Amino acid sequence: MQNLVVLGATGSIGKSTLDVVKRNPQHYCAFALVAASSVERMLELCIEHKPRFAHMVDGKAAAALNAQLPANLNIEVTTGEDALLALVSHSDVDTVMAAIVGAAGLVPTLAAVKAGKRVLLANKEALVMSGELFIAETRKSGAVLLPVDSEHNAIFQCLPEKVQRELGYCDLSAAGISHILLTGSGGPFLTSPLESLAAMTPAQACKHPNWSMGPKISVDSATMMNKGLEYIEARWLFNTAADELKVVIHPQSVIHSMVQYRDGSVLAQMGNPDMRTPIAHAMAYPERISAGVEPLDFFKLGTLSFCEPDFSRFPCLKLAMDACHDGQEATTVLNAANEVAVAAFLNGQIGFTDIAVINAECLGKIAKTHLDSIEAIIALDAEARRLANQLVSRR
Ligand code: NAD
Ligand code: MG
Repeated sequence: MQNLVVLGATGSIGKSTLDVVKRNPQHYCAFALVAASSVERMLELCIEHKPRFAHMVDGKAAAALNAQLPANLNIEVTTGEDALLALVSHSDVDTVMAAIVGAAGLVPTLAAVKAGKRVLLANKEALVMSGELFIAETRKSGAVLLPVDSEHNAIFQCLPEKVQRELGYCDLSAAGISHILLTGSGGPFLTSPLESLAAMTPAQACKHPNWSMGPKISVDSATMMNKGLEYIEARWLFNTAADELKVVIHPQSVIHSMVQYRDGSVLAQMGNPDMRTPIAHAMAYPERISAGVEPLDFFKLGTLSFCEPDFSRFPCLKLAMDACHDGQEATTVLNAANEVAVAAFLNGQIGFTDIAVINAECLGKIAKTHLDSIEAIIALDAEARRLANQLVSRR
């Protein structure tokens, strides 16, 4: 039996994770559920999963939840950063699902790593901001890192066991690997006329052709910033050199990514686009459990197609790939600027194509000093947010 903390329990990944827990009650138990502020959803989850702890980041939401929880459930409601960090490092916890959206996930996810837990990583922003430090802490504590992002989970499944055990510091070339092929659907605007992009609305951007996800990552899929963040995430997880990592557009999202070997072999992981597959894989690794996912029916699949990304359509992807090679300072600034720009787009303050403009401007304007601590990363993140907010209000 694994005791699980679900960070981001009320979100899209949280929901899929708890669905897999429900299907495998003999193996998993929700020890603690963590969310920002949605009391109603948290209450439902508490009644269904009966965790020992329910943590709400918002203090008022915690009080409201506490008032509504049936007393006989014996669930302790907590709030505040110290309580959250104590939860993820609690000695009864085996596994932490890191599925808070955005930079807010960094500190609790890193605390789980430092406590040596089995960390199922959905929060890609944590690696984008702090990759080098994050991997160093993983090695130090002996935490087991398992990728949940569908592409990285697919790549992980196509790697030899020795490489799987050395995530973050593996030697791909020594394992006979020539390339990691990161696939992406291209999102809802892959074939829209270029001149129509500026007027695209949040509802259009969030309508992903294959995946159902939270709003931030859905917009990131439309700009392909999501693939850019994943490129950076892959660089850290698989310790890739610049020429070992390629992005391939594959609109059907059936192949979730591939590994190309020196002898000409390409291993791909396939499946229906349902996050319960990578979640269940990471939860059970190296075993397999049922995830409730429809099996892939090859007779109904039709054509699988592939093409190269066009950077004039997806400037955010290029910004992220360049930032990746510039270093952790650039990726931290880009991630922060992008969170502000995406939130402003979702609020109707800026247009779709302004997201890339703000990201580029922030990258150009912020002096990048070497980041040697989490505190320095968080300070740079805050500075980039301030500048991005100014740029938003000027537009
Ligand atoms: P979501 O918006 O659906 O849910 C976000 C969750 O985080 C919610 O439970 C919310 O309460 C919580 N949260 C928000 N701000 C918080 C804060 N300040 N402190 C604590 N909790 C906070 O997002 P999602 O789509 O589930 O994505 C979660 C993470 O997983 C993201 O990093 C995303 O990139 C990654 N991811 C998601 C998918 C997907 O299919 N949804 C796929 C791959 C990776
Ligand atoms: Mg992904």
